[in-house]
Amino acid sequence: VESCDVLIVGGGPAGSSVARGLRRHGLDALVLDRARFPRDKVCAGWITLAVVEALQLDLGDYGKRNLLQPIHAFGIGTIGGRQVRTRRSATPVSFGIRRCEFDHYLLRRSGARLRLGESLVELKREGSGWLVNGSIRTPLVVGAGGHFCPIARELGARPGPGEPAVLAQEIEFEMSPAQSSGCRVESTVPELWFCRDLKGYGWALRKGDFLNVGLGRQDGRGLAGHVEAFRRRLVADGKVPAELPPKFRGHAYLLYPGGSRVEYGDGLLLVGDAAGLAYAASGEGIGPAVESGLMAAETIAAARGDYRREKLAAYRNRLERRFGPRRRRAPALALPAGLQRYVARKLLAREWFARRVVVERWFLHARQPAPVSSTP
Ligand SMILES: Cc1cc2nc3c(=O)[nH]c(=O)nc-3n(C[C@H](O)[C@H](O)[C@H](O)COP(=O)(O)OP(=O)(O)OC[C@H]3O[C@@H](n4cnc5c(N)ncnc54)[C@H](O)[C@@H]3O)c2cc1C
Repeated sequence: VESCDVLIVGGGPAGSSVARGLRRHGLDALVLDRARFPRDKVCAGWITLAVVEALQLDLGDYGKRNLLQPIHAFGIGTIGGRQVRTRRSATPVSFGIRRCEFDHYLLRRSGARLRLGESLVELKREGSGWLVNGSIRTPLVVGAGGHFCPIARELGARPGPGEPAVLAQEIEFEMSPAQSSGCRVESTVPELWFCRDLKGYGWALRKGDFLNVGLGRQDGRGLAGHVEAFRRRLVADGKVPAELPPKFRGHAYLLYPGGSRVEYGDGLLLVGDAAGLAYAASGEGIGPAVESGLMAAETIAAARGDYRREKLAAYRNRLERRFGPRRRRAPALALPAGLQRYVARKLLAREWFARRVVVERWFLHARQPAPVSSTP
């Protein structure tokens, strides 16, 4: 039987951030992941500057062996309507990465002990701690296993039709030289195309010779139809190669402040998608995964080995200070359907709205304070 100060289930951005944060406090973290890394994750692979800052990511080092696509502007429109481009910034406003590389880099950088290729199959109470898979003894388990995290289930989550989640699908592939030269999506200008009912959006994000195309919706009903219509539109407009890979990969996740996930319990904490923390306006989940991981590490270090529920409550306070109060139900969009369509058509076609509201406020969080970061 192996022991550790903290067991982290899941080695994505949330899990590796907890691990790195704990190491800085001299705690011995073990990461358990059912996948062997490098592994891929269904994702567009867009990160904000806040993520770079929170991770204290050395872009020079990262870019040596990994694809790092600077983004300088966005193309915004409604599907089937016209597109406006935001003003080009001289310096990057975001980056495109590939999750198979990014997550692997962060996990290795965390310096944690790793048990990869092993699922969590058994979680047993043993005194005030846990015995995991019959072979790991630990006083605290952090659930960083994404939307379907088994630790979230232990804390009462029931992922499925009863839990309103965003559903999204994407493809990512390397274009051939012919496809690459014919692709009309610019690598420094990702395109975001909103659904007419504003319940989701599609994207086309080019990262070097890789192209990522996808669509996510708050209302997952009929998702495949929306994705197919979007794909056809992009092909018809000559934006992307006609022969896109046929099979889109899908995944679900929850938006903050809605969702009914309980973030902590006796000897248990949830981070990232397991806690349901993605930004509601943009669907960005990597930033909240990283920052919640760092906040969890701070909470754990401050608890000094006493991981009773009440000691871990400080974690929710940290989350709420950063992301606002949790509301168990997400507010429904109050505009009547006709007005929504009008807003979509009229406002999204204006450069100032696309830049100031969609990009700066919804996507880049220009009004938010600096992120929680891993600097001591
Ligand atoms: C189509 C799509 C596009 C998206 N695009 C973006 C984007 O461009 N930018 C952005 O910021 N966010 C995006 N998101 C959201 C983002 O992908 C997630 O919010 C983010 O990956 C959450 O990170 P995490 O570490 O919490 O979980 P994950 O990255 O899902 O990692 C969870 C890990 O846990 C492991 N695991 C799961 N179950 C077990 C188990 N039982 N035992 C052991 N290990 C387990 C998994 O193997 C995995 O490695 C997108 C999501 C989707 C679906």
